[in-house]
Amino acid sequence: MNPSLQKLQKFFKLEAERGYDDRAVVGGLERMLTPWEAEARADGLSEEIIAAVLARLRDYHRLSPASRQESLQGLWRRIQRNTEQEPPPGEPVPTPTDQPALEVSREGEAPQVEIELEVEVQKEESLPASTGVAERAVHEEYHPPRPAAPASTGSPAALNASVTVLPGVGPRHGETLARLGLVTLGDMLYNFPRRYDDYSQLKTINRLWYGEEVTIIGTVQSVSNRQVRSGRMAITEAVVGDGSGALRVTWFNQPWIGKRLRNGMQVVLSGKVEQYLGRLVMNSPEVEQLEQQNLHTNRIVPIYSLTAHITQRWLRRLMYQVVTYWSPRVQDPLPRSTRRAAEVIDLSTALGQIHFPDSWEALKAARSRLAFDELFLLQLGLLSQKRAWQERSARVFVTPDAWLEQQLSRLPYALTSAQRRVIERIREDLAGGHPMNRLLQGDVGSGKTVVAALAIAMVVQHGPQAALMAPTSILAEQHYQSLCDILTGEGQLLAGDQVRLLIGATPEAEKQAIREGLASGQVKVVIGTHALIEDPVNFADLELAIIDEQHRFGVQQRAALRQKGRDPHLMVMSATPIPRSLALTVYGDLDLLVLDEMPPGRQPVSTHVLLPRERERSYSLIRSQIERGRQAFIIYPLIEGDEDGHSDDQVNESKAAVEEHQRLQSEIFPRLSLGLLHGRLRPEEKDDVMARFRDGEHQILVSTSVVEVGVDVPNATVMLVEGADRFGLAQLHQFRGRVGRGQDQAYCLLIPGEEDAAENERLSAMVETNDGFVLAERDLQQRGPGDFLGTRQSGYVQLLRLASLTDIQLIEKAQGLAKELFEQDPELLLPEHQPLAVSLRRAWGDSGPAVSGDVS
Ligand code: ADP
Ligand code: MG
Repeated sequence: MNPSLQKLQKFFKLEAERGYDDRAVVGGLERMLTPWEAEARADGLSEEIIAAVLARLRDYHRLSPASRQESLQGLWRRIQRNTEQEPPPGEPVPTPTDQPALEVSREGEAPQVEIELEVEVQKEESLPASTGVAERAVHEEYHPPRPAAPASTGSPAALNASVTVLPGVGPRHGETLARLGLVTLGDMLYNFPRRYDDYSQLKTINRLWYGEEVTIIGTVQSVSNRQVRSGRMAITEAVVGDGSGALRVTWFNQPWIGKRLRNGMQVVLSGKVEQYLGRLVMNSPEVEQLEQQNLHTNRIVPIYSLTAHITQRWLRRLMYQVVTYWSPRVQDPLPRSTRRAAEVIDLSTALGQIHFPDSWEALKAARSRLAFDELFLLQLGLLSQKRAWQERSARVFVTPDAWLEQQLSRLPYALTSAQRRVIERIREDLAGGHPMNRLLQGDVGSGKTVVAALAIAMVVQHGPQAALMAPTSILAEQHYQSLCDILTGEGQLLAGDQVRLLIGATPEAEKQAIREGLASGQVKVVIGTHALIEDPVNFADLELAIIDEQHRFGVQQRAALRQKGRDPHLMVMSATPIPRSLALTVYGDLDLLVLDEMPPGRQPVSTHVLLPRERERSYSLIRSQIERGRQAFIIYPLIEGDEDGHSDDQVNESKAAVEEHQRLQSEIFPRLSLGLLHGRLRPEEKDDVMARFRDGEHQILVSTSVVEVGVDVPNATVMLVEGADRFGLAQLHQFRGRVGRGQDQAYCLLIPGEEDAAENERLSAMVETNDGFVLAERDLQQRGPGDFLGTRQSGYVQLLRLASLTDIQLIEKAQGLAKELFEQDPELLLPEHQPLAVSLRRAWGDSGPAVSGDVS
């Protein structure tokens, strides 16, 4: 009998002995129901019985002792009847104790003989080598499930049960599976295959092409093992033929493979076709003995990630067991209306099909459903974060029209209409009574600084303080200059000593004075680097925090600045155009503002791709520009495969720049002064070089990619990028944005590392358009989201395992439906939304991840 039934029987007996006083369990019989339900499911008790038990016992305490007796006895009879009926003939039996393995319960199929490659597993369990999983199950003791967290709703609580409840999985396999992140049955269900092999789409050996990834089936014609390098390397060689031809296959240091292969054995090989001495070969492909079951059903076979001591075959079989039993039993958390509107299939089918698809179409539908779930939960989580933030109150700052017009009239230029629109929105936000939480996006040179300055003015005119944080000293200094120009001076809002710069290099005495000024409220605006949050800086009344080049900061740093005030208004700025799909997901908790217009008079940077052998032409252009008093940047990428064996990218990159700087200075531009900027310089050294370049001491700045961040040197007109094919579009666009900030025609020259890389799609895209958003979309398609997310931020995107950040349609669908649902029931309190609430908590954790806005 099932342990859960045994338990039930014990309680029933005890109740009978006590005359049905509902005291057999402390606190009443209902108390045991939730944990029992979980255990019963893990036990594999039929849903029908579980439902019957729950229904009958839920109101047990209300019944009279006589009715209780009747109820328990009736229930028990029902259970007996039901369990005797199980299993129906020929069907797999889900109870772990009854069902050692799949094949055995399949009628009409002879149990397979186990030979193949499970040697490692067997070693671990120290079982006789001929014992397969099927028999091994019997050797394993049965482990009752860990007490599962009582889940009031949602998917069966038993999905929280440990994988060790599965037959054939003892504590040792449990540990091994845990290394793959598979701790609970739920983990298993969501352990999606790495790829699939379609055994109906096999290739014959005579039709193989060099370089392709294939699966072939053949017969082992010979196997040999040898040791080379005095026994330090074991080589297994086999010849596998399929009637159309034969292929030599080699494995290195996997001696167990050789031991398992036998002449005449039919095997499935998956791997890459390579070449050796003019013939096609395979090196270390995945190999499995041919499984009749899979072949005859024409199955698309899932391939899972593995770790030591686990074979594909063993894991797949275990997965099959979990999936076939559990996927029909999960509760679908998506409300029916959402599911219909999203046009996705139900969860049970999706989970079944993603593991063991019946067809590629079915697999696609399954993936699309599960991807939708990820995005939908992400959007719901973002919405509730946003809401939590919006529920807080903030100081109200009303900006009168006349005051604003006066400020604008003092600027040396008229704002673009995009700038006006954005400022209008900020003005509304500041007057709204809730903390502003904005992402201001605008291409390099679109004029974000003046927007920041005006936002600051709107706040400080009422008395409180504002802070602007930038990632580097030089950038902070530049902002300090701009803000002083706009905010201080004759008849302006602030006096010079009310706007201060706080960076690492600020002398200690001055730092102290600034800190005092901030604490007393005398200093109204502070611009700085990390020093703003790292030093013991206290504000009397910080009401606006602005962060420039926000992707250079981590979530914690942003939160740290915000915490210097009490729920201040927040605006983060980014010059990296973020594709819309990313803005909706990764930055979905922030309200987006876009500056999509350049100040007038800017000429697009003239962009050209040159071949490496045309390099001299680029030097001529640089010379002629410098003769006219202009300046130039030369960027070098990482040199791969450095002979010195350095593995550190920054070291390699810096080395290339150092060497090239030397060469250019001595051989190409001996009469000019060339500055050098690279990642291994100390921050003060970097700032010093940048400052010298800005001040015209150096005519040329040789640099690695560290030059990227928004420094303004309007006099620079040439950007030469070497090895340009190695950079992503977003980055190339950033480089190009370093020039063309003045009135003169500027040039961007892209030289690929090799001649044949000149046809590079990315480089052509750069020539085609100056529009950062267009390039950002393309870059996302080509390189994925990595370039847009600082490494510190990308962690949470791991919520998305199937969903693609480039699938704007699915993202928008998920966002729309999440909003709809959220408007109805923002806290997911309706009973029909309970399963969804559970899933949401599971996906986001209890507190929710810190995203770009980080509600503390
Ligand atoms: P970014 O958005 O890259 O931070 P900046 O704020 O540094 O751009 O602005 C780039 C340059 O454009 C600055 O020199 C700034 O003075 C100038 N600028 C900003 N707005 C306008 C405008 N409306 N008209 C003309 N020039 C402007
Ligand atoms: Mg800027």
